[in-house]
Amino acid sequence: MIPLSEPALGPEEEAAVLAVLRSGLIGGNGRTCKEVERSLRDLLGCEFALLTTSCTHALELCLLAMDIGPGDEVVLPSFNFSSMAAAIVRQGARPVFAELDPSTLNIDPADVERRITGRTRAIMAIHYAGESCDMPALLEVSTRAGIPLIEDAAHAVGATSNGRNLGSLGYAGLLSFHVTKNLTAGEAGALLTSDEKLARRAEIIREKGTNRAQFLRGEVDKYTWMDIGSSYVLSDLLAAVLLAQLRRLEEITERRRRISERYFEAFAPLADAGRCRLLRRDAHSKANGHLFVLLVNPAERDDVLEKLRARGVGATFHYVPLHSSPFGQSLGYRRGDFPLTELASDSLVRLPLYAGMTDEQVEYVIASVEETLSGAVPAYSGLEIGA
Ligand SMILES: *Cc1c(COP(=O)(O)O)cnc(C)c1O
Repeated sequence: MIPLSEPALGPEEEAAVLAVLRSGLIGGNGRTCKEVERSLRDLLGCEFALLTTSCTHALELCLLAMDIGPGDEVVLPSFNFSSMAAAIVRQGARPVFAELDPSTLNIDPADVERRITGRTRAIMAIHYAGESCDMPALLEVSTRAGIPLIEDAAHAVGATSNGRNLGSLGYAGLLSFHVTKNLTAGEAGALLTSDEKLARRAEIIREKGTNRAQFLRGEVDKYTWMDIGSSYVLSDLLAAVLLAQLRRLEEITERRRRISERYFEAFAPLADAGRCRLLRRDAHSKANGHLFVLLVNPAERDDVLEKLRARGVGATFHYVPLHSSPFGQSLGYRRGDFPLTELASDSLVRLPLYAGMTDEQVEYVIASVEETLSGAVPAYSGLEIGA
C-alpha cells in the first residue's frame, strides 16, 4: 500500500534528538526551542514565533491572548478541521461559518464580508493544501472592518503569496508540526505574529500565567503569576526533531512540489475531458505540495476511493463540513447551509503525497487514477464546481 503520507525522518533527526537527550536539557522552552523559534522568525519573516505543543494549542493560545469570549463571533470556513472551531467554542465564543471558493476550496472573501457583524472579533482562514487564500481580498476585508485576520497555515509552511510567507501576513499565523504535515515533530505547533502586545501576553499564558520567559531573558530577577494561563510549552526533545526538519525545509518542499507538479501535468487531460477537476493555482502564490486533491463526480467518489485502495493506493476523502457535523448541528446549522462546501467534501479524493515517494510510486498512482477514471466512472457532472 502506498500510504497517503509519511514523515520525512532520517539520520539528521536521529542525531539531533540524541544530542539533546544526552545533554539532559529536555525541558520545555529551553535553548533548542529558542533556536527553532529564531529560525522560524528568520525563515518566515515575522517578529515573534512561539512554539506550542500543537497547532490546536496555538489556536487556543491566540484566542486566549486576544481575550475572545462569550458574546464574540469568529468567522471561519466550514470546510475545515475541528481545531479552529473547537478553540472558538472553548472560549465561549460563537463560530460563524463561511462558504468556500470552489476553485481553490479556500474561504470566499465576499462571503466572509457578508457574515461580519458588530460582534465579530476575528476572521480565520486556512490555506488549504498549502495554496494561498486570496490574501489581498481577505486583508482588504479585514482592514475595512477593522477585524484581525488569523491565518491557519497548518498546511502551508514554506508556501508563499506574492513572495511573502504564509502565516506571516495577517495579525497572527498558526503552524502545525503534526505527523501528517510537511515538517513534523510528531506533535507540535507554533503561533506567529508581528504584534508585540499579542506575543508578550501569549508568552505569559503559555507559561502557566507567569513571566518565566522574561526571567529567562534576564529582563526580571524572579518570575511570578501575572495573568491567566495554561501550559503550552514544547519539550526541547521534540524541538530537536523540528530543528533538523527546518534545516531540510527546502529539500522536503522541493520534492513535494515536484510530485505535485507531476500530478497536475498528468491529470490535465482527465480534467480537460471533464472526468475530474483540479484545484486552481494562483500565479502570485507558490504552494508547498502539502496535499494533492482531485474532485470527481460525488455519486462515484466512494467507488473511486475503493478502487484506488484495491490497487494499493492510499487515497482518502478529507474534511466533513463542520456546519453539518453533529456539533455544528447543535449550534443550529444544517446540511444545505453551505452547498459548495458540501459538494467539495463529497467530491474530494486526496492522493498520496510525501517527500519519500519514489518516482515509480508516483507513476503507479497516476496510472491507477487514469484507469479508475477512464470511463469506468461517469464524467464529473455535479454542480459546476469552479466553473
Ligand atoms: C493539522 C491541522 C490542525 C491541527 O494541528 P495539530 O498540530 O494536530 O493540533 C489545525 N488546522 C488545520 C487546517 C490542520 O490541517
